[in-house]
Amino acid sequence: MREITIKVPSDLEERILSKNPVIEKIMLKSYKGKINEGDILKFTSETGKFLARGYYGVQNKSFGWMLSYNYKQKINEKFFKQIINRAISKRNELHSCSHTDAYRIFNAEGDGIGGLSIDIYGAYVLIQWYSKGIYQYKDIIVRILRKRMPDVGLFEKRRFGVGGEYVAGQDFIYGSYPNGSINVSQHNIQYMVDLDDGAMTGLFLDQRHVRNYIKYNYAKDKTVLNLFSYTGAFGVAAKLGGASSVTNVDMANRSIELTKRNYEINGLEYTNRDTVIMDVFKFISWANKNNKKWDVIVLDPPSFSRSKKKTFKVETDYMNLVKEVSKLINDGGVLVASTNYSKWSKEEFLTELLTSIRVVRGLADVKKVFSLPEDFCVNYNYPESDYLKVAVVEISI
Ligand code: SAH
Repeated sequence: MREITIKVPSDLEERILSKNPVIEKIMLKSYKGKINEGDILKFTSETGKFLARGYYGVQNKSFGWMLSYNYKQKINEKFFKQIINRAISKRNELHSCSHTDAYRIFNAEGDGIGGLSIDIYGAYVLIQWYSKGIYQYKDIIVRILRKRMPDVGLFEKRRFGVGGEYVAGQDFIYGSYPNGSINVSQHNIQYMVDLDDGAMTGLFLDQRHVRNYIKYNYAKDKTVLNLFSYTGAFGVAAKLGGASSVTNVDMANRSIELTKRNYEINGLEYTNRDTVIMDVFKFISWANKNNKKWDVIVLDPPSFSRSKKKTFKVETDYMNLVKEVSKLINDGGVLVASTNYSKWSKEEFLTELLTSIRVVRGLADVKKVFSLPEDFCVNYNYPESDYLKVAVVEISI
């Protein structure tokens, strides 16, 4: 790959040396030539002092990621190999774990290469590319994985369409092609995933500890409402934990079949009443009008959603949703509130959440807070990479 040297003004030097890995547009300003996706960028001070090396790759508002602060470190296949192998070895405990075979083995900037994530799903590996820049390194990265994990089948998802959208196409790279979906396990709960079915796989790997916690702490003999249920993953966990009833709500028709299959592979009986296909906002007004209540409500909306009834944007609408949902919880019941919204810190989220619940219900108690699991390594020089926040809040009697 081509290396370009870019001089940055003194006010940006400190920013780079703080090791925040994001390459910002302003850092590229002094370079007048064309920069191509995947180019290696060598940043120096105006006097030529080495600061860092990164690669160019347009990804949302960032323009690439820093890779090394060591002058001598060349960005080549050997470098990628070291970083990727180090990340894989760091998960040794998970590799030998008998109850979980679906987890992340490379978490972007948390493991040293922004724009790249790699997940294991049983006998398969899924690479996700978040910019055209990192995609330039596909041959190298596939070669490294193939050597390290010769027996797995490989899939990819290119997430560098407009606005970071998934780019449809051939996602299978090599190995034995699974015909249809495969089953994986997390904390001994089975989940069906399909690695060749568009943008989503069927399972959010980063919520496994939350699901297991609900199963053992907030399920037995409880009535559970699972909002934005997708493939019913939280519902399955609650049912396995002995919930007396679980209602999964999602507006996508596919949820019926996917939830049914997830129940079945766990030996759970599925009935038509277990999934309601409806706009969550409509469901909530119906439930409020009819005075319906549940012991446990799981609230895990996407960051953005458009339905016939309304547009939902997490930063402006989440807390209103919390207020509405809080009315549907029995005294002594719990709300499991989750968000991926990276601009809220954990503290801000908890404060806002408690304030919103208390407006409606008076006293409430935070019982447990989850962040990303251990395999989703965080880069602490870049707090936004610590995006997941899940709070279990009990409504006082
Ligand atoms: N909680 C799920 C993941 C949710 S993904 C899990 O743990 O697996 C987001 C889901 O929200 C999608 O399935 C999408 O169909 C659904 N969705 C988005 N907007 C919605 C709305 N207004 N009403 C109902 N479902 C909605």
